[in-house]
Amino acid sequence: MQRISLAIIGLGKIATDQHVPCVRRGADFEIVATASRNARLDGVENFTTLEELLAARPDVQAVALCVPPRPRYALAKSALLAGKHVLLEKPPGATVSEVQSLAALAVARDVSLFATWHSRYAAAVEEARRFLEPRAIRSVRIEWKEDVRHWHPGQQWIWEPGGLGVFDPGINALSILTEILPSPVFLTAAGLEFPANRATPIAALLTFASEAGFPVEAVFDWRQTGPQTWDIVAETDDGVLRLSNGGTKLVIGERNIEIAEKPEYEALYDRFAALIRGGRQDVDLAPLQHVADAFLLGERQVVEPFED
Ligand code: NAP
Repeated sequence: MQRISLAIIGLGKIATDQHVPCVRRGADFEIVATASRNARLDGVENFTTLEELLAARPDVQAVALCVPPRPRYALAKSALLAGKHVLLEKPPGATVSEVQSLAALAVARDVSLFATWHSRYAAAVEEARRFLEPRAIRSVRIEWKEDVRHWHPGQQWIWEPGGLGVFDPGINALSILTEILPSPVFLTAAGLEFPANRATPIAALLTFASEAGFPVEAVFDWRQTGPQTWDIVAETDDGVLRLSNGGTKLVIGERNIEIAEKPEYEALYDRFAALIRGGRQDVDLAPLQHVADAFLLGERQVVEPFED
């Protein structure tokens, strides 16, 4: 089958760490161009802006937008209007309604829009979903605690409006939660800790209710040094499920469930290729909606200034 010609937009950490090597390992896509203001990729044509790329390379069929959420909408709109299939890194945008607008545009232009949630492709997530589906859940607790200095060195956009702060990793937990639960949850309370010198939160405590009656609590914190914690624990009528290490490790009761490794971004690009070839969309806004709800309901607490 012919490869889909792809352009990568925003050659930063995730584009370099995951998108480029993963696409080059796979058989579905070929990177033919990039657009980035300050970085270049060897072996392909590099542009500074998407507009230049679209004008010079009409052969590009799809674009992967790896820029921060705030500039993503304008780029996605240009690409969709030019008839390109579009992959959005997570979170898919800075607001819920701008992504809804993109979804409608993709349908109108008859191209595929894929709002990705890479953590949903972590190795143990599907097995966790299958375990929970037929069981009665009693409670869910999420702990997502990491060291922002280690994972986001020098990234100022995460502290600016639209950068999401601790919800940048926290939304990964919410993307797994909304994938593995058999019924929806909705936020009932939130506490958000904003460093005095920052516009986005460094920590959050979220409480959800569920239509099925069980409580969900989530703690996100960016000040964790030492071992990092990315855990979801669900108590059920048939044992405790522990999904840890960002969705890659699963223990049910005392049993360690062996799961074959599949890199998240390989699965993500498999899905993008299938969406394009099937003429379909995949835009699930549930994780972003929960973050928006946290900003709507959250009680703001100012904590000590945070320096990188
Ligand atoms: P990053 O290292 O800051 O890279 C983003 C790139 O986008 C920048 O290097 C920059 O390249 C370009 N860009 C265009 N407009 C920009 C603007 N207004 N402000 C800043 N950069 C701009 O960020 P990242 O960590 O790759 O994250 C990008 C997206 O991927 C985020 O939505 C993030 O949540 C998601 N993501 C990140 C990770 C991770 O491990 N880092 C994992 C999964 C998902 P030029 O200056 O060359 O234009």
